[in-house]
Parts: sequence; structure tokens; C-alpha cells
Amino acid sequence: MNIYFHIPYCKSKCKYCAFYSETLPPPAEYVEYMLQEMKEILSKTVEPVSTVYIGGGTPSALSPQQLRQLVSTIVAECVPEEFSIEVNPADITQELLEALQGVTRISIGAQSFDDEILQFLGRRHTKADICHAVELVKTAGFSNFGLDLIAAIPSMTQECWEKTLDAAVELSPRHISIYNLSIEEGTPFFRSGLMPISDDEAMEQLALAQSRLNVAGYGRYEISNYAQSGYECKHNLAVWHGEDYFGIGAGAHSRVGQSRIHNLDNWHNWLAAKQAGTTIPQNVEYLTEEEDSRERTFTQWRLLNEGVTFISNAPEKQALLKTLLEQDIIHELKPHTYALTMRGTEIADSIISAFM
Ligand code: SF4
Repeated sequence: MNIYFHIPYCKSKCKYCAFYSETLPPPAEYVEYMLQEMKEILSKTVEPVSTVYIGGGTPSALSPQQLRQLVSTIVAECVPEEFSIEVNPADITQELLEALQGVTRISIGAQSFDDEILQFLGRRHTKADICHAVELVKTAGFSNFGLDLIAAIPSMTQECWEKTLDAAVELSPRHISIYNLSIEEGTPFFRSGLMPISDDEAMEQLALAQSRLNVAGYGRYEISNYAQSGYECKHNLAVWHGEDYFGIGAGAHSRVGQSRIHNLDNWHNWLAAKQAGTTIPQNVEYLTEEEDSRERTFTQWRLLNEGVTFISNAPEKQALLKTLLEQDIIHELKPHTYALTMRGTEIADSIISAFM
């Protein structure tokens, strides 16, 4: 079983962010009710917990006391094989890291190693904060940490991107995630009329990242994720493999059996429902067996080293397969198992949809 805790709070809003989060100190009851819900879930199953992931928002917006309560209770109730948390480099202190005893994997939202770019993005940390945070993380004995980076940022030169990649590798993280900046409606970037860089430039940056990171010993195991061997994120792998996961907190998503559940974003309504002992506001979609299996296969296409087993006698599917193989968009990993090539990752969504 996999459990995700969502912390919909941030200390400030980044200019590109379209996610729901509140810029206020997380109330104490939020942590208490999340833990209460976890205990309810655990009391209804004998299945062991394989992975726990605390994401956001910004989990490190919780105070060290709140984090200690959250982490220590999770560890007391279950012993996950992997226990991850996302943190902002500006929040990392020795006190905060002491509160994370029991966490096995720390994901640091570095985003860039260029101070001007960080400021442009509206991040509240600097390059020096990232380096200091990593030093503290290592000193505290957390050897399994990762860095998140953003590519395709307008105004970022190729040289600046290369420096960011090199600076990230220099810190020897176990894992590196790279997401392209997208300019989403409702964000300050969108309102300012900022235009995205061209697809060709974005692909060039991703190709550069792949070659630099491969040389440095990081394998690209998922469209946006690289890791040293054995340090792939088990929680996300479980999700991409189509395993069930329970999402706890306002805005969290769950996938349980044939249901897709979205807890609605508003933390205030979530908390009010918890206080009143009523059902939390959520959207629940029930999928047919076919929809469920199709959706779970869909995510597996993201896994570049594993691929998807595909057998179909339908002439149109066979023709599609032949064309994609000829055009080097997919390749055959083993008989009847196919994965996206580097070229295929550039147009992943349309390729995946074609197989559905
Ligand atoms: S820290 Fe993350 S969730 Fe919070 S505003 Fe920035 S991008 Fe959004």
C-alpha cells in the first residue's frame, strides 16, 4: 500500500505555479486530522505500507514541531520501505532535519542554480541556499536526496542551463527530476504575457540534460526523472505501475480499486468537515474495468526502461506499431514489450493516446 500526504501550504507563491496552495502557516489541526485519517486507513487493512510520500505545496512550510509530530507518528504506525518528503532549500535547518528522523528520501526543490533565474521564477531561495541545504542534509546522514530542476525557462540561456546541470551533478544527488516550465492560466507568468520557448529549444535542453546526466551516471528511468541505479523513487514507480495509493489532505488524489478520488482543494472546507465529523468534500469517479486497466497501462508508458507489453491482432494497431518503430519513436525492449525512445518522449502524450 502507498500513502501520499498533501501539504497545501507555501510560504510564498512562485510566479509559474498553478497549483492550489495557501500562503499561511499550516494550522496544527491540519496535521492532527491527517494523522487521524491515516490511522483509520491503516485500521481497515492488513496490507503493509510500502511507500509514504509527503508532498505539496511545501511540506517544509510545516514547523519543525509539526513535522516531528507527522513523521514520528507515521514511523510509529507503519514502517514504509521508502519514506519521502519534498522540501524547499530555504527551509532546511538542522532543527528541521532532526524532525525528519525516519524519512529515507529527501527531495529538494532546487529548480535552478542561477540566482537571476530563481528570482525570475519567484523562488524564495538562492544558489547558496541550495548548497547549504545539501551540506546540512548530508551532515545529518540523509544520503538519499534528490534535486528538482526546471527546464525551458524563457530568458535562460543554453550556457545557464548547462551550468545548472553541472552544479546539480556536483552535489552528487541520488536522483534528479527535470520538468519543463509551462505557462499556465491564472499564474503571474500567464498574466504578464510571458511566452514559452519554442519546442525545438525545449527539446534541445532536454537532450542536453539526458546526455550530461547519463555521462554522470544517472539513468533516465521515466520521462522527467533520472536516478543513480537503485535510487529510483519507489513511490512514484508504484503509481506509474498502476498500484493503488491513498491521498490524505486537501487537494490530494487517490487511486483505490476502480475509483479515482480527488479531495477538493480548499483546506478550510477539508478541516471544517473533519471537525464536524462529516465526509470531506471530494470528487469520486468510478471507472469501468476496461477504463481502469487502460488508465493503469497509460502511466506505464512513462517508464522508459520497462515499457509496456502490447499484443494486438487489430490491423490498425499493428500498422501503428510498425510506423512508430520505423520512425524511431518507440523501440522493442523484448518480444512484444515496447518503450518510448528519446524522440518518443518528446511527443509522449500523443503516442500513448494512440495506443489507448
Ligand atoms: S513552492 Fe511549489 S507549490 Fe508552492 S508556489 Fe512554488 S511551485 Fe507552487
